[in-house]
Amino acid sequence: MLETTFSIIKPDAVSRNLTGQIISRFEAQGLKVVASKMLQLTQAQAEGFYAEHKGRDFYEPLVAYMISGPIVVQVLAGENAIALNRQIMGATNPEKADMGTIRKDFALNMRENSVHGSDSPASAAREISYFFSQTELCLR
Ligand code: UDP
Repeated sequence: MLETTFSIIKPDAVSRNLTGQIISRFEAQGLKVVASKMLQLTQAQAEGFYAEHKGRDFYEPLVAYMISGPIVVQVLAGENAIALNRQIMGATNPEKADMGTIRKDFALNMRENSVHGSDSPASAAREISYFFSQTELCLR
């Protein structure tokens, strides 16, 4: 099934100049970048994006980290893009991530874990529309 999913290259990866290497991994596995921009999140944007985690012990440090530097937000398209992106990313905790995944190879720790990817069709739809209008997606 052709799907779109939402991806973030997080501040730890952008600041270490890993953006190109990370995008190359998506492309090599058949995901196509159909929208992309670099931006610096505001506190309110970061809080809203991670609202489902509000109240968890990691929420405030997560928000502080996500606004600590520029990020790259992207929409990726491909066959089973949501699951494929999660597979390419690896587990949240880099110590538990499979060999060859982005998080295994680049993440610094459980918080500064280099990438975000939508975990379901509902979150993909919400997250894409959080940053992009439908006309910004180059799907043809
Ligand atoms: N996170 C954290 N500590 C935790 C769990 C998560 O700092 O114990 C951060 C981490 O950056 C993670 C993000 O919160 O990527 C969102 O957590 P989620 O459980 O949704 O993981 P993901 O879907 O990103 O793998």
